[in-house]
Amino acid sequence: MGTLSGKTAVVTGSTSGIGLAYARAFASAGANIVINGFGVPADIEKERSAIEKEFGVKAVHSPADMTKPAEIAEMIALGEKTFGSVDILVNNAGVQFVSPIEDFPIEKWDMIIAINLSSAFHAIRAAVPGMKKRGWGRIINTASAHSLVASPFKSAYVSAKHGIVGLTKTVALEVATHKITANCISPGYVWTPLVEKQIPDTMKARGLTKEQVINDVLLDAQPTKEFVTVDQVAALALFLTSDAAAQITGANLSIDGGWTAE
Ligand code: NAD
Repeated sequence: MGTLSGKTAVVTGSTSGIGLAYARAFASAGANIVINGFGVPADIEKERSAIEKEFGVKAVHSPADMTKPAEIAEMIALGEKTFGSVDILVNNAGVQFVSPIEDFPIEKWDMIIAINLSSAFHAIRAAVPGMKKRGWGRIINTASAHSLVASPFKSAYVSAKHGIVGLTKTVALEVATHKITANCISPGYVWTPLVEKQIPDTMKARGLTKEQVINDVLLDAQPTKEFVTVDQVAALALFLTSDAAAQITGANLSIDGGWTAE
C-alpha cells in the first residue's frame, strides 16, 4: 500500500518530459493516473501500460487538448468517472515559442496563454468541487524560473508563467480551509524535449551555435551549471502530496540550480 493508494492524479502534458515523471512518481506511491498529452498513439499506450505494470495501479489516457475548455472538463470527468475521484491535479502541459516581440506571431501568443495558463484555470475550476466534497486535494502547477524572472524573446511564456503564480495564490486562498493546497513548482532548465526544441530558434534569434546556446544561454543562467532532472522535479511534487506538506500552500517553489538567487 503506497501513501497515495486509493487516490487519483490527473497530470496534464504527461506523455513526455516532466509530466511523465510526475505521473510515474504518483503511480509509484500507489495513485491511479490520468495521463494526458499528444504523441504517437503506440508510444502513449506503451507509457500507459508501463505505469500499470510497474506500479500495480490503473492508468487511462485523456486526449484532451489544453486549448479546448470543454475537453479539459471532460478530462477531469474521465478521472472522476473511471476512478471515483480526482484528488491530485497537476497542471503541467506547456509549450514554448521564442521570437522578438515585434515579430511574435499573434496565434503563438494566444496558444501559449491558452495551454500554459488558461488550461490550468479550466482544470482547477472543474476539479475543485470534487476535492471540496471529499475534503482533500493537491493542486500543483508547473510554473518555471520564468515565473520569477524574464528572458528576452519569450514574452508569451514569461507572461503565462507569471500569471499561473497569481492563479495559484488566489486558488490557495479560496480553498485553504478545505484541506486542499495549491502550489507552483518552478524549475530552471530541465533537459526535456521542450528545451531541446527551442534550441534552433534561440540559435536563430541570437545568432549562436547549438553549443553556445546550451553553455552560454541555458546553463549560463544556472549557477550549478547542471540541468535539473525530471526525477528531481517529480520528487518535489510527490512531497507536496504528503501530509508533511499540508501547510505549504500558495507557494512558488524553485528548483533551478540557483538561477533565481542571482
Ligand atoms: P515536453 O515538451 O517534454 O512536454 C510537454 C507536454 O505537454 C507533452 O506531453 C505534450 O504532449 C503536452 N502538450 C502540449 N500541448 C498540449 C495541448 N494543447 N494539450 C495537451 N497536452 C499538450 O515539456 P516539459 O519540458 O516536460 O515541460 C512541462 C512543463 O514544465 C511545461 O509547463 C514547461 O513550461 C515547464 N517547464 C519546463 C522546463 C524545462 O526546462 N524543460 C523548465 C521550467 C518549466
